[in-house]
Amino acid sequence: AKAEQLGGYRFFEQTMSEELNDRRQTEHDLRHAADRGELYVVYQPQASVASSSIVGFEALVRWRRPGHGQMSPSTFIPLAEECGAILPIGEWVLRSVCREAAGWPNPLSVAVNVSAVQLHAPNFVALVHTVLFESGLPPQRLEIEITETALVRDFTRTLATLRQLKALGVRIAMDDFGTGYSSLSNLRAFPFDKIKIDRSFVTAVDSNQQAAAIVRSVLGLGRGLGLPVMAEGVETEAEMQFLQLEACDGAQGYLLGRPAPIDQFAHLTRANDVR
Ligand code: C2E
Ligand code: CA
Ligand code: CA
Ligand code: CA
Repeated sequence: AKAEQLGGYRFFEQTMSEELNDRRQTEHDLRHAADRGELYVVYQPQASVASSSIVGFEALVRWRRPGHGQMSPSTFIPLAEECGAILPIGEWVLRSVCREAAGWPNPLSVAVNVSAVQLHAPNFVALVHTVLFESGLPPQRLEIEITETALVRDFTRTLATLRQLKALGVRIAMDDFGTGYSSLSNLRAFPFDKIKIDRSFVTAVDSNQQAAAIVRSVLGLGRGLGLPVMAEGVETEAEMQFLQLEACDGAQGYLLGRPAPIDQFAHLTRANDVR
């Protein structure tokens, strides 16, 4: 009877059904990762190119999964998006990050990645509002990073959501710029405050003609639209010099600092003594 209920599964190859079980187990574990205290956040510095000073941090989630060691977000975030576990995970990240950043000296900002599923959840704006209120983080110091894949669904609703977020005072960055389907129309249609050029265009920008042309044109676009541009994945001095020469606004990458637990940046994030 059990086999009947499972229907098609008995036709799967043994390995196939093992994979399926693994996946179910992973999804189950993902749903509980936040409650079980298995998630933590690392922070990567974001610098002003002109002054080379640190202006903020991007928060990047990590999962310490028992029996599996540390899992990378590029493997578990897509899975969490598919099974809905991204909602408790995203909420946990937002809460922890805002609580952490509220203690940093002004005007250090924090950027949080928000996926399509989170953005389209009916209570997302209310959640951001609550978390800002509870943490005391000034809204202007929170930046939400959204990739273009989050924009493809229901245009009217997405626009309404982004406008509501802006009305809270939160800033919105377009993440992985240039890798989506219709970057230009998205830039025009939605109220972004910043463009983040994807790492794939920044790598070897100093020596690769195509990369250089693309980065220059994104910088021109940013200037024309009045939007600051940040380059991700800056790894070498030569790439950084190119960005300086081309007057890119911001830079982030291993050259400036790898993502790490916040204690490693205590010299930057300790609140000033205000006596
Ligand atoms: P992303 O938003 O494009 O984040 C940048 C990724 O590039 C991070 O990978 C970061 O560690 C890595 N990176 C930074 N600088 C360099 C560099 O100089 N060289 C190289 N090779 N890599 C660099 P990470 O932490 O593995 O995150 C991967 C992706 O997972 C992120 O890409 C983001 O899309 C997603 N992600 C991470 N945390 C969260 C989260 O809290 N929520 C959601 N929804 N997605 C997240
Ligand atoms: Ca990002
Ligand atoms: Ca990226
Ligand atoms: Ca990404």
